[in-house]
Amino acid sequence: MEEIKVQLTTTPKQKPADESKLGFGKIFTDHMFVMDYTDGHWHDPRIVPYGPLDLTPACMCLHYSQEVFEGMKAYRGVDGKIRLFRPEQNFARLNSSNDRLSIPLIDEELAEKALEMLVDIDSDWVPHTDGASLYIRPFIIGTEDALGAHTSTEYKFIIIMSPSGSYYAGGLAPVKIYVETKYVRAVIGGTGYAKTGGNYAASLKAQDIAAEQGYSQVLWLDGVERKYIEEVGAMNVFFVLGDEIVTPMLRGSILPGITRKSVIEVLKHMGYKVSERLITVEELIEANAKGEFKEMFGTGTAAVISPVGELKCGDTIIPINNGKIGEISQMLYDKITGMQFGKIPDEFGWTVVVK
Ligand SMILES: *Cc1c(COP(=O)(O)O)cnc(C)c1O
Repeated sequence: MEEIKVQLTTTPKQKPADESKLGFGKIFTDHMFVMDYTDGHWHDPRIVPYGPLDLTPACMCLHYSQEVFEGMKAYRGVDGKIRLFRPEQNFARLNSSNDRLSIPLIDEELAEKALEMLVDIDSDWVPHTDGASLYIRPFIIGTEDALGAHTSTEYKFIIIMSPSGSYYAGGLAPVKIYVETKYVRAVIGGTGYAKTGGNYAASLKAQDIAAEQGYSQVLWLDGVERKYIEEVGAMNVFFVLGDEIVTPMLRGSILPGITRKSVIEVLKHMGYKVSERLITVEELIEANAKGEFKEMFGTGTAAVISPVGELKCGDTIIPINNGKIGEISQMLYDKITGMQFGKIPDEFGWTVVVK
């Protein structure tokens, strides 16, 4: 493994004095990780002061969106230890996205080592407030200086970090979700399972329309039949229907969330019946009529568990659990954040202590 060089900043920034005003992804730590790909190989892994990149206007990712990213967090535990949550899963998924976007694969072990070094160096930036964390954004961009529409021959792999506030400053509050029936996010055979910026660019219009109507997120349906439920903006979704917990199966159009995977594993471990299968809005409406639609929640690194209190599909509005948080949603939130913040033992071996 190539040595990771470190160049520390000589002008450290002032850390935010009031952690309640952090928001999300607006300020960045003192250092970042950078590695280059030229002449057919990755080289020069290094930690350097955070700062602007030197790119030309013809830089390929700016024109043809050849880019991938990840989202993960470092948590300061109640025991003072700083933990990552399943980081190897993020780097494995980054390589799966790389493969789909024709980006050369990275050394996952080197990436995890680089991240642990970076978090260690900037550890004072990991927030102390309960629920707040250091958001971590690894990403790779095609940087060849050329306009031909082909696979870039040069790349940069970068990791930046941003202290971010608790997603639920006011407690675990249910959100209202809008089922999108006109626009689609992804199709099987497309890039839906890859974490790439283009998927987000394609989803902004529907997101804006939903927001205008007072809905915080869009629930996507499959791109062919507009029938099967896929996922929400940046979260996977789960439904509690009677005694079955259902989440859409991974068919290539859905992002395979690490929180999704963890939720399935926790639920199965606890003896719940979990099904990964096709599910339609019709089925939800029927279950609701029978009084069996008990809970709906989204899963993702940012919110961990996001309870849903209302679903709007066309003219039909489905209230869920009287707009309150369900028992299973609350239990999963407490269990997963409990492991992340060192409040309960990590019986799954998912957390990695950095320092
Ligand atoms: C990142 C992301 C998720 C959630 O994945 P996690 O690994 O749980 O954070 C879900 N859907 C989309 C589209 C995403 O980009």
